[in-house]
Amino acid sequence: MAVPEGGSLQSSILFSILVLFIATTAYLLFIRSLPGQPQSHQRRALQLFSWFFLTEFLAYLVYCLRFIDMYLVSVVLNNLLYLCGVYLFYCGVRSRYQLDISRKILGFICIHLLALGVLLYWFTAIHNEIFIRLPLALGSFCVPVLITFSLIRQQQRPGNLGDRVLLLCTIVTLLLLPLLYPIFGYLLQPDQQGQLMVMTLVTLTLETLCIGGLAISYIYDLIDKLRSDANTDKLTQSSNRRYFFKVAPQFQQRVAAGEQISLVLLDIDHFKQLNDRYGHQAGDAVLRHFATLLRQHLQSKDLIVRYGGEEFLLVLPGYTPAQTLPLLQQFQARLRQSPLQYESEELIVRASYGVAALHAGQDIDHCVHRADLALYQAKANGRDNVVLDSPATAS
Ligand code: GH3
Ligand code: MG
Ligand code: MG
Repeated sequence: MAVPEGGSLQSSILFSILVLFIATTAYLLFIRSLPGQPQSHQRRALQLFSWFFLTEFLAYLVYCLRFIDMYLVSVVLNNLLYLCGVYLFYCGVRSRYQLDISRKILGFICIHLLALGVLLYWFTAIHNEIFIRLPLALGSFCVPVLITFSLIRQQQRPGNLGDRVLLLCTIVTLLLLPLLYPIFGYLLQPDQQGQLMVMTLVTLTLETLCIGGLAISYIYDLIDKLRSDANTDKLTQSSNRRYFFKVAPQFQQRVAAGEQISLVLLDIDHFKQLNDRYGHQAGDAVLRHFATLLRQHLQSKDLIVRYGGEEFLLVLPGYTPAQTLPLLQQFQARLRQSPLQYESEELIVRASYGVAALHAGQDIDHCVHRADLALYQAKANGRDNVVLDSPATAS
């Protein structure tokens, strides 16, 4: 195959493609190097990335065919491969939101590719109409970008940086694709070949921008997951001790500003017996069940921390210790009414509770210690009850 004619424009295109490929491959490698087994949708996204690289590479090879008198094949295949590239971006975004790529979607993509192929053939072989062919191809590329844009708007999660990156990429692409055509058309009017090369570069750059944005959004998701894993207890999905001590200064600041905050240390009663009698797995199931009931009972502003084995710490903003009493008694009732069905057994879980108020200027460890003393008292009182820390200990 003949190498495209020399010239600074072509060399710069080749160079740009090389740089873009290296940059996107770096994203890909970065994703692969992150710890943790990729989930199925992430694996699918990695496959889509690989397909995208192949498609873009083939598109460039096919582009070069026009220099060895295969103009028609080059134009049709080149544009179809670019359209495939944009649809791969759309499929990658669907995978990110864990949405399937249905047969209906695949059918739509095939019909679009077929229609574009036929129209391009018509306007190249029969009427060599570049000023119809180019907007036709660019308009076609806009279709999957538009669909992707509306998908991201539907699925967007508040504050998610990955979503914002993807939205930005699609908006930039949607603005530039139709805008650049008349600009370049005007600037390079006499040089049709140069115009085509610039359009190729623009399309490639925008597609790489989109897929790069997609890679960044995946990286962001993984970092987000790693961060949340580091703060979450795997068994119960509650926050862990590390997270509690990380956010503790915020609670202290809120107390200093005049807010009431109570800490509850609670411990499941006779948990060891339960483990011994029904096995460790039953114990784990009880811990999960207990944490789920706690989440259902409390509000999203309250913090639930797995503080130790079968010990949980609750941070309840807006509550004085006395006000936690009805809340905890209702929870005790809920526990009695919601036994865990484990194999053929109904396991009723009970717990003891120690409550202390968080005071301004006092160490949070000291407050936990006071809640622990109250919990010790609740155990001594015969378990399954609530003890409030006395004001004397607080001072
Ligand atoms: P008390 O009423 O005084 O609290 O008695 P207890 O049996 O609940 O307390 P103890 O501290 O003697 O036993 C706690 C047990 O919890 C011991 C430990 O094996 C078990 N445990 C700690 N973490 C886990 C866990 O993640 N899963 C399971 N299944 N058991 C755990
Ligand atoms: Mg216990
Ligand atoms: Mg314990």
